[in-house]
Amino acid sequence: MKKIAIIGSTGSIGTQTLDIVRNNKDLKVVALAAGSNVELLEQQAREFLPDIIGIWSEDKAGKLRHALSEFNIRVVSGMEGLIEIAAMSASDILVTAIVGMIGIRPTVEAIKAGKDIALANKETLVTAGHIIMPLAKEHGVKILPVDSEHSAIFQCIHGEESIGNKISRLLITASGGPFRGKDKAYLEHVTVEDALKHPNWSMGKKITIDSATLVNKGLEVIEARWLFDVMPENIEVVIQPQSIIHSMVEFEDGSVKAQLGTPDMKLPIQYALFYPQRRYLAGDRLDFKALSEIIIDKPDRETFKGLDFAYNALEAGGSMPTVFNAANERAVALFLEGRIKFLDIYNIIDACMKNHKVIEHPSLSDIFETEKNVYEYINQMVRR
Ligand code: NAD
Ligand code: MG
Repeated sequence: MKKIAIIGSTGSIGTQTLDIVRNNKDLKVVALAAGSNVELLEQQAREFLPDIIGIWSEDKAGKLRHALSEFNIRVVSGMEGLIEIAAMSASDILVTAIVGMIGIRPTVEAIKAGKDIALANKETLVTAGHIIMPLAKEHGVKILPVDSEHSAIFQCIHGEESIGNKISRLLITASGGPFRGKDKAYLEHVTVEDALKHPNWSMGKKITIDSATLVNKGLEVIEARWLFDVMPENIEVVIQPQSIIHSMVEFEDGSVKAQLGTPDMKLPIQYALFYPQRRYLAGDRLDFKALSEIIIDKPDRETFKGLDFAYNALEAGGSMPTVFNAANERAVALFLEGRIKFLDIYNIIDACMKNHKVIEHPSLSDIFETEKNVYEYINQMVRR
């Protein structure tokens, strides 16, 4: 029996992880945590009977304690609660299905407690990859990628790296999002609703907006840099609008391996949970006869600046990826609240990165301090 804890259980990745648990009787959920959706969390607790659940506000935790009083389930709240869940003795693996930099501390504590990490929360590696990867090595824990592109790369290098075969290039695929082929003039007037219409994937709101700006792909380049220890100049992004090729790896001899499949996040989630084993997974299979072509294109980096920001942040190094990520998190929230326009997301990231003086080798507290400063800077900008 593999015991799993999930932070972010009510979201897109969280609920799909629970679908996998439903289909695999040798998985047991021992902990769940969510931000605000009490109703769904209560329902999940009743179904999976975990030892412990967490919700962000103490007020909501009180309601859950009352609602679940017939069960023996401990209810915790806040960052303390998330950390308790992440590091709990009863779990084998932590699924980080939470969105944003709030995932950093629980991930660090889980690693210190010796838990393997099924990592969906890319913001953690983007901002603290230089801390997370060595920490995982020190504690002998695996960081198992859930992001589909990184899972594809992980599947391609299986059996290669262990015998010393070297990666020469990573080719990360991107769908291009809902605005692929559009120009700046078009983007001036797009609405939140337009930006939330992803052509291939159904995901949480933040990552869906990030796909429309290509910031998601930028975050994934940084994520790949840390996960696979490949330098940015050897990481390339290509547009694959069908989302069938999930990413590719080129080796020293020029051979390129790709992982293909229908766009379904359950596959990478399940691969992370059972790595290195594969299991049956219900769902559509690729029909090559119905595929007349596989399209590969170049990204339009001029219009969709998310990629350039990421490469610039990697080049500047230190705390700059945190600025890129934090500025984006705040800007996307403002866009979703209807307070700024789509292209202002780029303007805000740009202004924050220009304003920042890089801290080399930032500690965790430097990272949180940088995040705070970015938020303050944006608040001043938006108030003006
Ligand atoms: P989502 O918005 O659907 O879900 C986020 C989850 O985090 C929810 O359960 C929410 O309750 C929880 N959460 C938010 N704030 C919290 C808090 N303060 N305390 C506890 N829980 C909190 O997001 P998602 O699309 O599932 O994405 C989750 C992460 O996975 C993100 O980092 C995203 O980039 C990454 N990811 C998602 C997909 C996808 O297909 N959805 C693919 C690749 C990577
Ligand atoms: Mg992805």
